[in-house]
Amino acid sequence: MIIDGKQVAAQVRAEVAAAVKELEARGRTPGLTVVRVGDDPASAVYVRGKRKACEEVGIRSVEHHLPATTSQAELLALVRQLNADPSVDGILVQLPLPKGLDESEILDAIDPGKDVDGFHPLNVGALCLGKPAPRPCTPHGVMRLLAEAGCDPKGKRALVIGRSHIVGKPMALMLLEKHATVTIAHSRTADLAAEVARADIVVAAIGKAEMIRGEWVKPGAVVIDVGMNRKPDGKLCGDVEYAAAAERAAAITPVPGGVGPMTIAMLLVNTVELARTRT
Ligand code: NDP
Repeated sequence: MIIDGKQVAAQVRAEVAAAVKELEARGRTPGLTVVRVGDDPASAVYVRGKRKACEEVGIRSVEHHLPATTSQAELLALVRQLNADPSVDGILVQLPLPKGLDESEILDAIDPGKDVDGFHPLNVGALCLGKPAPRPCTPHGVMRLLAEAGCDPKGKRALVIGRSHIVGKPMALMLLEKHATVTIAHSRTADLAAEVARADIVVAAIGKAEMIRGEWVKPGAVVIDVGMNRKPDGKLCGDVEYAAAAERAAAITPVPGGVGPMTIAMLLVNTVELARTRT
């Protein structure tokens, strides 16, 4: 089974559009404000995609585009101004920030109640404690894909490869919350092939083209490929050797068209959830 992220994302967007209508009927249009600093071309593409997705479901989207010369104090001042603005439900500071700016201090300054990415330490803590809070979008999207594929993590051995703050760590916590037996692998893991071979669920979030060999995958496993890598021929590929893994897996996400579309869809979900909490 190929898990079709585009189709699930379309379904999620339709759900969000319905929720937006409901909020509008109560006189409230949810609003997402994106802050972009500098002219990183990839960031410009991501922000454009996020704003377009907002517009499609009726979320008001505003972008603040600041020059690369913006100081830490100026950026902090903008974040504080957005924290205080009641028309702003979600604040997203697009990363990476230009060199010289302290990302961590900026993210910590965002009101946790408007932290649409779920990166604020209070929200990370809430996730650890199983309390409601905005969930980081990519792992949140992976959980939805697993559910749509009929894969209940309960009692399964789940392997998360990667331990970043934005994907690997929150992913492991969300799988644990759903009662999987979770292992986190990373660059110092001694025998990655053996870890993959015994996993019922594999989530690869590494950033290395096709490094997870298809032959490592346990027959019948569910494989979720978060990786987005460019091959020398310019084509996109994941962290998993797709064709060989697909022969053994019960279900697998393609790249592109798997996790990618879900990340933006879950950003919309988080924005509406934050607006609901504040209404
Ligand atoms: P990071 O670079 O922050 O983290 C990569 C992780 O992979 C690290 O924990 C690292 O281990 C681990 N790793 C590196 N080499 C190996 C190895 N040889 N064996 C095992 N583990 C290894 O990346 P992100 O988490 O931000 O992103 C991961 C991938 O997911 C990237 O390709 C990114 O583009 C993609 N991505 C896709 C998204 C989407 O929407 N589809 C959204 C976000 C990311 P260590 O900690 O030891 O260094």
